[in-house]
Amino acid sequence: MFQPVNSKVSFPDLERRILDLWRDRKIFEQSIEARSSSPRYIFYEGPPTANGNPGIHHVLSRVFKDVIPRYKTMKGFCVPRKAGWDTHGLPVELEVEKQLGFTGKAQIEEYGVAKFNALCRESVFKYLKQWDSLTERIGFWLDIEHPYVTLDNSYIESGWWAISRLWNKDLIYQGYKVTPHCPRCGTSLSSHEVALGYKDDTVDPSVYVKFRIHTLPPSVASDKSGGLTLADAVSKGKVYFLAWTTTPWTLPGNTSLALAEDADYAVIPLDDEYLIFAQALVEQAGLGGRPALKTFKGGQLVGSLYYPLYNPHEYDVERKRAKEGQQGQFDVQEPVADLTYKIITADFVSMEDGTGIVHIAPAFGEVDFQAGLENNLDFVQQVDLAGNITGTYSFSGKFVKDADADILADLERRGLLYKTVKITHTYPFCWRCDAPLVYYAKKTWYIRTSARKDEMIAGNRRINWYPEHIKEGRFGDWLNNNVDWAFSRERYWGTPLNIWLCRKCGRYECPSGVEEIKGKPGLQGYSDGMDLHRPYIDDVTYACAACGDTMVRQPEVIDCWFDSGAMPFAQWHYPFENAELFKQSFPADYISEAVDQTRGWFYSLHALSTLVFDQPCFKNVICLGHILDAQGEKMSKTRGNVVDPWTVLDSSGADALRWYMFTSGPPGNVRRMSPDMVVEVMRNFLMTLWNTYSFFVIYANIDNFVPGKKAPKVTSELDRWLISSLNQLIIDTDRQLGEYDPTGAGRKIESFVSDLSNWYVRRSRRRFWKSQNDDDKLSAYSTLYQALVTLSKLLAPFTPFVAEEIYQNLVRTVDKDAPESVHLALFPVADEKLIDTDIIAGTELAMKVCSMGRAARSKSSVKVRQPLPKVVIKARSSHEREALQSLCAQITDELNVKDIGFTSDEMQEDKNLSVIAEGDYQVGVVTEISPELLAEGLAREIVRRLQTMRRSAGLEIADHIRTYYEGGEQVQAVMKDFADYIRQETLSTEILQGSSEPPVHTEKFRLAGLEITLSIKKQK
Ligand SMILES: [Zn+2]
Ligand SMILES: [Zn+2]
Repeated sequence: MFQPVNSKVSFPDLERRILDLWRDRKIFEQSIEARSSSPRYIFYEGPPTANGNPGIHHVLSRVFKDVIPRYKTMKGFCVPRKAGWDTHGLPVELEVEKQLGFTGKAQIEEYGVAKFNALCRESVFKYLKQWDSLTERIGFWLDIEHPYVTLDNSYIESGWWAISRLWNKDLIYQGYKVTPHCPRCGTSLSSHEVALGYKDDTVDPSVYVKFRIHTLPPSVASDKSGGLTLADAVSKGKVYFLAWTTTPWTLPGNTSLALAEDADYAVIPLDDEYLIFAQALVEQAGLGGRPALKTFKGGQLVGSLYYPLYNPHEYDVERKRAKEGQQGQFDVQEPVADLTYKIITADFVSMEDGTGIVHIAPAFGEVDFQAGLENNLDFVQQVDLAGNITGTYSFSGKFVKDADADILADLERRGLLYKTVKITHTYPFCWRCDAPLVYYAKKTWYIRTSARKDEMIAGNRRINWYPEHIKEGRFGDWLNNNVDWAFSRERYWGTPLNIWLCRKCGRYECPSGVEEIKGKPGLQGYSDGMDLHRPYIDDVTYACAACGDTMVRQPEVIDCWFDSGAMPFAQWHYPFENAELFKQSFPADYISEAVDQTRGWFYSLHALSTLVFDQPCFKNVICLGHILDAQGEKMSKTRGNVVDPWTVLDSSGADALRWYMFTSGPPGNVRRMSPDMVVEVMRNFLMTLWNTYSFFVIYANIDNFVPGKKAPKVTSELDRWLISSLNQLIIDTDRQLGEYDPTGAGRKIESFVSDLSNWYVRRSRRRFWKSQNDDDKLSAYSTLYQALVTLSKLLAPFTPFVAEEIYQNLVRTVDKDAPESVHLALFPVADEKLIDTDIIAGTELAMKVCSMGRAARSKSSVKVRQPLPKVVIKARSSHEREALQSLCAQITDELNVKDIGFTSDEMQEDKNLSVIAEGDYQVGVVTEISPELLAEGLAREIVRRLQTMRRSAGLEIADHIRTYYEGGEQVQAVMKDFADYIRQETLSTEILQGSSEPPVHTEKFRLAGLEITLSIKKQK
């Protein structure tokens, strides 16, 4: 006997029971230990940070991370799954700053780095419990007892080892470069971080600024064309270059203007002054009505000098110039009262917008910085790392973006502003704190990833991306445009950069780990087991091997993406320990995260693996799309449309949520979701499965069906079809999961479950219901049993809870030797001999024809239970006709018609023929009703009423009844003629005319215009 099944199941309750079972019997642990000698399948967990509550998007990635390892386990692999936590970096520091009410780094220094970092350490596990319980609740099997943690000394030391390897390969350097800098966080961002924070709708000033000309080249100054020479106007200070910018705050740092060599520059009169700028942009600048007095090529203007808008020496700001041949070293220049700057020509000058004259501030732009080096320009950096204006300007002390308005007002007052408007453009913001980034020249440590670009691209060719277009698209593009990885951060809570510098002779060293540091001469500030974080490591010094002076650590920490990218080796503290374990688990067979990680974790994994090990570290990756709300809007707290995973888990359950994530769309697509959508999945899929299962158990228990005793000979077309489909389903599911396509596999299962319920079970109902226990009934039971047990195994990776429930009841209750859990069982293997593709195709066609036939019946508004004489089918070929002919019993029964006919002619609808057409097919139902058919229809109606009465009287399915009836002559005739049929269908031992004393249940009806009273009474 199987355990009785409640048709009103609560999936959340069921799942909590299954969680207890897994926990009590250590099923997850067993699933790994039992396969300890099997081939390994390697999964890498991309580490989340536990300083916030996990959200619905975490559920998405975690269920995709779960489904493949579960499947591989059932395929016989050993799949260890080590959890991991990302614990360093800006996101963590920002949370703590928020908590302390800090707005900048000065406050942290004042508060104390030791205390600050202690708070960071605490905060990263603030939501650990929530993460662990959500992980368990959604059935994500992961070893959360033994996670790798990026803040552990062992993890840090492995990171140091990797950095020193790169150092030895000359892949690390310090560059004076313009980097995207977050003024609030006070640190550089890597280009992949910048990519996370672009905003399209940023409003900025669009400014046309006048630079007063000091000198023009003689040929230009004395040129007489247009009836004008400029020499006189220049000496009166009336001639200007007109340049354009959207970042007025960089203007005090201007040290040159760039023109295009071959473009035409026009001299345009305005009031009593002259503006020089590109002829092509006169119209756009709003001066289209004024013809140029004369034009010069950009190249002709080389040699011009102009006055700076702000002479840095007057505002207590240093003017520097790069030392010849020494990138990153600058000499401070002596003050000059009558300072002028030169113009240059450059090929980056565009004639698309602006004025064709580019304002150059080498301290604030990548292109500008480069132009500065190439043309020996001055370097004026009147902004500090917090983004505030330095010096003694009237706007000093202000944040750059806030100073814009003051600078413009000042220029306006001095007659140096031609015009200013607002534009909307794309501008980068800090992905963590939302502050506008500023491009800022400074010293930063780089990993020379661009030196290994070709290897990274070649390695990527060996990775299977799902969806495939990511490989050459998003990820491939990213690699093709690779720039060096700016990986140092001027921050506190992170893996400290293991580069020491000699204070005296300037020699650098990059020790590979604690042992190497311990062996240094004159070591100070080190103690065994010390916390390797700042500020403690900052006190560790040793003697310079060259000059004997003190080596001190560089103050930076490293990018937290380096940490997570180091997990393939750092999770094992490789190479200091676990060399064998590392070898066994490198590279990974499978990883999965959302698509934004193409520039995050996917990239840092791939870059480090290529640079350190000369090979990729993952073979297959499912790249997930983002989740939106039901209306397609981004979920956000301010919109109030965030879906809390727990709400869904408590109402619909984890299986429903998982199934939704797997089947609602391909993994890479954007996914809409709401709790209601998950409820629908529960109703449409899980309840269909459950009702079929519950149907089986109820009838199997009534008939004492014992599976596997004696396999009956399968003769029924229906059984042969189901067995065929089931074996085909095994092949399809196995193949698609093997191809990392849980969506395709899930959809196949879903359509099988639908056919199983809506065709097989419905068409077989009478076979289970009939009283004699013949071979046909046994065959129906074993077929359905086999389908349900196989389904439980196919579904185990997707919906592990309901799969376990079905397996425990259908398998474990009858076979104590079977594996203890469906997750310890092997994935089903198809028996291809049992697949009859003709019967699969034929039944599919029959289902289609029946669906059309039902539509034809419903169009004619004849009642469903009224038998009709005939269905006529127009199929596409004689082959199809034969297939349908062989299934004619199913079709006539399904459509409640007496006969089936075929035609190759077009059918015309008339009053006795209702026709439905679909593509090449036509199905017509003959609607003429003879008195005999009318009587039969009546009998069927009566059976239905009696069955409803049985239910409302609360009778069990197997209870026998006595049936009484009252009615006219016609009713009496029907009750007599169809007595056997009615008895069999309603389990009536007797059918009697009159009324019972006392009746259990009596009801009066009007059927086809006839009065009829029915009563039923339960038989003991
Ligand atoms: Zn920031
Ligand atoms: Zn030295």
